[in-house]
Amino acid sequence: MALYAQVFLRQARPSFDRLYDYLVPPPLAGVIRPGMQVLVPFGRGDGLRPAFVRRLLDEPSGTAGRGQLKSIDSLVENFPLLREDQLELCEHMAIRYATTRGEAARLMIPALTEEAAGPGGGRVRHVSLTDREAAIALLENGDVTHVNQIRIMEFLLDAEAPVDVHDLLTACQLTESTITTLRKKGWIETSWLTEEPEEEPGRAVAAGGGGGTVLSLTEGQREALGVLTAAYERRREEGPRVREYLLQGVTGSGKTEVYLRLAETVVRAGQGVIILVPEIGLTPQMSERIESFFGGQVAIQHSRLTPRERQRQWELIRSGQVQVVVGARSAVFSPLENIGLIVIDEEQESTYRSDRNPRYDARSVARLRVRDRAALLLLGSATPSLESRRRCDRGLSQLLRIGERPAGARLPSVRVVDLRRLAPGATDGLFSPVLRQAMEEVFDRGEQVMLFHNRRGWSGLEICSSCGAAVECQACSVAMTLHLGRHGRPDRLECHYCGLTHAVPQLCPNCGEPALAPRGFGTEQIESIFRETFPERRILRMDQDTTTGRGSHASILGAFRRREADCLLGTQMIAKGHDFPDVTLVGVLLADLLFQGNDFHASERGFQLLTQAAGRAGRADRPGHVIIQAFAVDHEALNRAVAQDYEGFYRQELRFREQLGYPPYSTMGTITVSHSSDAFAERATWAIREELVRQARRAGLVALRILPPAPAMIRRINNRSRWQLHLTSPLTRDIAWLFRIAAGLRLERGTAIGLSMDPA
Ligand SMILES: [Zn+2]
Ligand SMILES: [Zn+2]
Repeated sequence: MALYAQVFLRQARPSFDRLYDYLVPPPLAGVIRPGMQVLVPFGRGDGLRPAFVRRLLDEPSGTAGRGQLKSIDSLVENFPLLREDQLELCEHMAIRYATTRGEAARLMIPALTEEAAGPGGGRVRHVSLTDREAAIALLENGDVTHVNQIRIMEFLLDAEAPVDVHDLLTACQLTESTITTLRKKGWIETSWLTEEPEEEPGRAVAAGGGGGTVLSLTEGQREALGVLTAAYERRREEGPRVREYLLQGVTGSGKTEVYLRLAETVVRAGQGVIILVPEIGLTPQMSERIESFFGGQVAIQHSRLTPRERQRQWELIRSGQVQVVVGARSAVFSPLENIGLIVIDEEQESTYRSDRNPRYDARSVARLRVRDRAALLLLGSATPSLESRRRCDRGLSQLLRIGERPAGARLPSVRVVDLRRLAPGATDGLFSPVLRQAMEEVFDRGEQVMLFHNRRGWSGLEICSSCGAAVECQACSVAMTLHLGRHGRPDRLECHYCGLTHAVPQLCPNCGEPALAPRGFGTEQIESIFRETFPERRILRMDQDTTTGRGSHASILGAFRRREADCLLGTQMIAKGHDFPDVTLVGVLLADLLFQGNDFHASERGFQLLTQAAGRAGRADRPGHVIIQAFAVDHEALNRAVAQDYEGFYRQELRFREQLGYPPYSTMGTITVSHSSDAFAERATWAIREELVRQARRAGLVALRILPPAPAMIRRINNRSRWQLHLTSPLTRDIAWLFRIAAGLRLERGTAIGLSMDPA
């Protein structure tokens, strides 16, 4: 029986994040296991701190004798929260993402905070408005100055009774800090109420598990599945290398069918499967399909679950009651006991990258999870990311292609409208005569239209026609966007970075002239123009402003599928894998917006979005049409997308990246340093650079480059100035090593540091 345990702290500064030896007290011997959460005395004063058991030992790992070691105090739970392979993953992630083991562990277990459990007796914290009448007045007068605060106040106005805090935050996709702010202002109050007994959410269970709808496979699907199944069956024979595959197939070529059949084989062999989708709210069809295929024996993990739902799903997985997990990014950490397959659908999506520390990429984490195991990693995409596709060229992954769409479905015909050539006044907003006529014909045939426009709000910038200045946010160095106000008129400005909102000023804040005028078109205004142009037709709008409520994605998409509208207008969120059989026309109102952005990913992102958008037209037996409107019609990536020419785009863009030494030919690291004072932020960034340069020189990292500090593209967000350091190296581990040094530096009070790597 083990006498010693090696543990790591759940919360630790990077410099304390080590493995510590403890004595196992006799009552815990034989009970304690790796992955269990324990309380240990730590530091001066021996205060009790939560920690995880990394491994059990017969001898202490260091030189300390038995008499010098402290003893574990107690177990927190009587079962392991982390599995063996998750403990290893914590180690790998700590090294790769300059984080601590405890922070990595936090991603793998549901938030079991005292808050969620309540003060005992099944009581749960609820929130309600202090005074409904006062709340209405505050909103009317524009006294609530942040979008997030408005969202909460309006949610509570709609609700009759007090609302569970966690449900509210999940529904509004917000954090606790907004609640705290509103409570301090005295506008809302919180109270502990007894929880209602919760009902199990209904789950559609299809008849005859493991079957679902049996579709016949195309030749391409059969071949790909053949290769994958054979690889899976040989999984134990080959050496410990990553068994990675990239399934490239145009939209509608039936990649999902391949995932499902392979997953079925894996589950039959007694192993588990994780299927990642970019965002579950946007792809309800995919998750429904998987659930029905596996007869409902599926766990779902995504960010819009309440903490209690999330914990219940986690428990289903941990206890081995389900073998298949479907979810967004974080589902890659699911505690499946014996993973045989991880599938990442639409692998090029940016949602697989976390935008909070640790800034991991689910694809890299999946590689770590299948590494050294008898397991397969399958990435799928119509337009693979350059990184993943290049791994195939380098022999790290195998490319499998499915060419044709099933059942004789054809690719849509694409037409480009050059907006520069249109006579002034020929367009209504952004509806060119060609597009307008095509829409009329489609409506007359009783079919549906999808319109993409990648800018939300009423219009772009509120610009002064006298001095030319735009109205800037008080807290950020960005122009504010005009939005519809509470009375359905565009009279409200909003900052898309910090959420600050106020009425449009009468006079230009810069020169004092009454000359402010909107410029450009956002989805709100396009919806309004649509209603004037096609008064008989019904339109639904889907963008960040119409989808803040829980389940609102699904309800908009459902209404459109049930033909409750003739047109669906939306930002890039409607480009994802939705299948609407009656959509025969797709219009991209201003393709130039898709290629905007100052980073080197802009072309790649634009190409992917445009290809996806075009792929939404015409499925099954009806041919589809795509009309793409743009000013920069000569744009290389735009034309490759119009021609659906992935290979051409891939070769071209790869040459460009190679010439400039960008990823995937190097790894780029960005360190963002922020402080309320610009001078402080700048100074701290220089100090960090000095230290990193010194360390890099000492370690002899010759291929590494550390550029001088520069202000971030958006220099000020939410009253904090931001400076950046850019690092490049052909070796990812060099960047990771310097990140760990940066994360461990002691910085002046009020300084925050963000670390991001590309590819992550
Ligand atoms: Zn002015
Ligand atoms: Zn702002």
